[in-house]
Amino acid sequence: MPRIRPLDKTVVNRIAAGEIIIAPSNALKEMLENSIDANSTNIEIGVKDGGLKFLQITDNGSGIDKDDLPLLCERFTTSKLTKFEDLQSISTYGFRGEALASISHISHLSVITKTAKDECAWKCYYLDGKLVPPPTGGNSEPRPIAGKDGTSIIVEDLFYNVPSRLRSLRSHSEEYARILDVVSKYAIHTGHIGFTCKKLGGSSTDLVIRKDMSRRDRIRTVFGSSVANELVEVNVDADLDIGLNRCYGYVTNSNYENKKSIRPVIFINNRLVACDPLRRAINQLYTTYLPKGHKPFIYLALEIDPKDVDVNVHPTKREVRFLNEEEIIERISSGIEAKLSSLDSSRKFLTQQ
Ligand code: ADP
Ligand code: MG
Repeated sequence: MPRIRPLDKTVVNRIAAGEIIIAPSNALKEMLENSIDANSTNIEIGVKDGGLKFLQITDNGSGIDKDDLPLLCERFTTSKLTKFEDLQSISTYGFRGEALASISHISHLSVITKTAKDECAWKCYYLDGKLVPPPTGGNSEPRPIAGKDGTSIIVEDLFYNVPSRLRSLRSHSEEYARILDVVSKYAIHTGHIGFTCKKLGGSSTDLVIRKDMSRRDRIRTVFGSSVANELVEVNVDADLDIGLNRCYGYVTNSNYENKKSIRPVIFINNRLVACDPLRRAINQLYTTYLPKGHKPFIYLALEIDPKDVDVNVHPTKREVRFLNEEEIIERISSGIEAKLSSLDSSRKFLTQQ
């Protein structure tokens, strides 16, 4: 066996980056969350070649202080978390200061940003965590350019230096579909923010959500009227003993029949997560209401006491663990069940009359 040696720092960073950013949609999700964290009310996304060639996200949020730009893509630099204990009460999406750093290790990243107090916007380029000169030459200092308040982040040539990852990705159109899926789900959940998503060079915009749209209209825009016309609002009573502070959302009623299952849209403490036990429990209870093989549409937002939730179990933050999982799932399923059965009996009553 060869002797043990420390890995080169750029190798370490590139490996770590590949764990957080598995596909263009992961990069997009991180940047989307940053824009929401920055109190934006409008977020625009432009994509070329499934996000591999070009991925741009432009927001009208707080902007980034020019003096912070040298640190922006350093690993573990963040404006959001200072102490480990803060993780218990974190209300922003980000906290590890890893996303932009990771992206800068596996792409060519550039930023245009302007805070309200800046007179002009600043543009700069990054590679491997650090400011670098623009491709046209010169120094790496941010340079002044005209621009609106907010931030635009451009990611080009994603995975250019991770050839194995490039080979394992799906087609450009599938990767684009995943990006659109992430944006759509955040657009449903995050009210008061307008979203657009389009392929650059394409003639149409694939998603347009105006910032004043209701949640029902957001669902209609994304999933169509067949879903939106059959929605039932869900509000599950809080149960502080098991750490369930709130649970609300929309599910389809028993009129909605669809064999193509739409993956449930589940947010826990504002994070888009895959919560398979909850999905299974709800699908199970619908077996009495829907023909065999049909699945409901589910959008649920859970607010669980932050101290009971561990968001830090997976690098992509896709999975979360929480205390009293079984009790909470049981509570939510019975809340939905009660709603469905009351609708069903009122319908029976109407038809009997
Ligand atoms: P984290 O979100 O965990 O802090 P990131 O690498 O995603 O780490 O971002 C690093 C920092 O860059 C953030 O803490 C924030 O201060 C700043 N930032 C990133 N994107 C934006 C944005 N769109 N608007 C304003 N600030 C941003
Ligand atoms: Mg972030």
